[in-house]
Amino acid sequence: MVEGMVEGMVEGMVEERNTVILGSGPAGYTAALYAARANLRPLLLKGLEAGGQLMLTTDVENYPGFPDGILGPEMMDAFEKQAARFETEIVAQSVTRVDLSERPFGVWAGDLEWRAKTLILATGASARWLGIPGEEKLRGRGVSACATCDGFFFRDRELVVVGGGDTAMEEATFLTKFASAVTLVHRRDEFRASKILQERVRSNPKVKVVWDTVVEEVLGEGAVTGVRLRNVKSDEATEFATDGVFVAIGHDPNTDLVTGQVDLTDAGYVIVREPTTATSVPGVFAAGDVTDVTYRQAVTAAGQGCKAAIDAERYLEEQAHANGG
Ligand code: NAP
Repeated sequence: MVEGMVEGMVEGMVEERNTVILGSGPAGYTAALYAARANLRPLLLKGLEAGGQLMLTTDVENYPGFPDGILGPEMMDAFEKQAARFETEIVAQSVTRVDLSERPFGVWAGDLEWRAKTLILATGASARWLGIPGEEKLRGRGVSACATCDGFFFRDRELVVVGGGDTAMEEATFLTKFASAVTLVHRRDEFRASKILQERVRSNPKVKVVWDTVVEEVLGEGAVTGVRLRNVKSDEATEFATDGVFVAIGHDPNTDLVTGQVDLTDAGYVIVREPTTATSVPGVFAAGDVTDVTYRQAVTAAGQGCKAAIDAERYLEEQAHANGG
């Protein structure tokens, strides 16, 4: 069978599904698990960053049920296996287009096409970049947004981490496993990170904090050699030698596919009708980081994924009832 083709799918024929789930993080897989167990035979399209952001973390210590912690990729592997154990079709494709103006909804992944009676958006969020000179050019050559992916390459090197949230604290702490020194550059004079993660940073002798400072440019030709910093209070600019820059300044929701089709917040998050996961388009539901600017936890995403599947099931029942089914 061609990769991406689903059992029972005949080439040239557009298959109709009860529920199509976009995304394969905790929200997507949990939605799949619940939808499958409700006999909806869901189709889950894994997307570009399969497994979601947990693929980029090491130890997950705050997911209930794992008293000794679990590795992020291992956890996502377990989520996938559990969803697949029931009747979820999991397809390693990225959706390229959705059309929510027709019913059932249209879903495309390149040449592949499906019709969906309900759609669950669980496309998550992606790392934000600084947008400064040198950053894009040197991405993968010393500039990274993922310590877990790239930290290994910086053994005994000096690194800069940018940001003041939980991610920046975690990345800085993790990078000290490899780097000889980590300088955490933050634009204000206090962190927004949780106290426990701040404490880990402060008590780590390899981490130094530079307050009230922004990175204005990443320096280097084939590889990072330094950064140009500016103190926002004194306006003083300095050059700071470093071998790598880890950007940890938050994330943006992955909503390009549905922009203009469902209501979004100004920051681009899908608006849901709390306490449900219903979006502005009946039959379309959203779960996880794509709709959550506040909590952004694996466990809250999974919880919302569960709600989305239940909402989709109820919607389908109501539709069947209304149509005399
Ligand atoms: P975040 O909480 O939004 O923090 C982003 C940080 O980057 C802030 O300190 C912000 O500065 C800074 N920043 C943003 N744009 C910037 C720019 N253009 N230039 C310089 N600095 C910039 O993002 P996050 O740390 O990725 O965390 C996101 C969510 O995930 C949070 O809810 C967090 O609690 C959660 N999380 C939890 C864990 C955990 O519990 N183990 C781990 C990781 C993430 P300001 O402070 O000045 O705004």
